Amino acid sequence: MFFIAQLTHSPELCFARPEHKEKYDELFEFLNNMEKYEKEAGVKLHGFYLNANEHTFYFIIEADNYLKLSKFLGVGPILTHHTAKISPVVTLEETLEFARTVVEE
Ligand SMILES: [Zn+2]
Repeated sequence: MFFIAQLTHSPELCFARPEHKEKYDELFEFLNNMEKYEKEAGVKLHGFYLNANEHTFYFIIEADNYLKLSKFLGVGPILTHHTAKISPVVTLEETLEFARTVVEE
């Protein structure tokens, strides 16, 4: 199952601010070692994007369940510094299969 996680922090909590240097280091460690954290949580990361002007991170994650996704995103300051919007989504292939099912009924 695929999820798109959108995580936004306020400018006051921005990792670029000197008072958040410790959290910046934790975040940087996470970003540099995401493969390790994927394995530990049992998820697969398909994409990562940042919009620095909007202080927003985007993750495209494949996980069997929401708990594994939460474990992956629970590392360091990812969840504590952000408001999360996590949407389950389907692939194009699954969409086409669903569309065929609807038409047949
Ligand atoms: Zn920021």
